[in-house]
Amino acid sequence: MTIQPVRLFGDPILRARAAEVTEFDRELRQLVADLTDTMHDDGGVGMAAPQIGVGLRVFVYDTGDAAGHLVNPTYTVVGDEEQVGPEGCLSIPGLRYDTRRALRVRASGVDMHGNPVEFAAEELLARCVQHETDHLDGVLFIDRLDPASRKEAMRTIRESDWFVTGVTVRESRGAGQAGPFGRGR
Ligand SMILES: [Zn+2]
Repeated sequence: MTIQPVRLFGDPILRARAAEVTEFDRELRQLVADLTDTMHDDGGVGMAAPQIGVGLRVFVYDTGDAAGHLVNPTYTVVGDEEQVGPEGCLSIPGLRYDTRRALRVRASGVDMHGNPVEFAAEELLARCVQHETDHLDGVLFIDRLDPASRKEAMRTIRESDWFVTGVTVRESRGAGQAGPFGRGR
């Protein structure tokens, strides 16, 4: 197990655009393994590389029904139906807000070996693809909230112990706790 500390809101890497992956080497395979272990340990449904301090376009996901990773991901929205449901982020502990997302997307990218990957996603997996791809552009789910909820979220963040103390790295909480992204495991 190679569980990494998780970067928290306030860490500039969460607001930076991550770089395209160009080398499909052992380091990349290790990154995917670290992300997967850290996501599982934290009870998350998805995790993007910047959340463990690596500015590369990689994310992992495990909704219970589907699990995997995507390198240099992009997605296109399929149809115009939306979903509104609770969303959180392992990098913003304790916050959860109803967030509007496209109901269906088509995700594409490559795997850790550089082979093309494409899949259709809906509901939780579609939400995950949108949330994690946002991370790679420095966008957080609170940016997607309506102005009133966003204001409330920012107030909650500013009053959080971890934010007040200026901590931007959190050691993993260990398995078995409910994850803030999507549902608990
Ligand atoms: Zn997140």
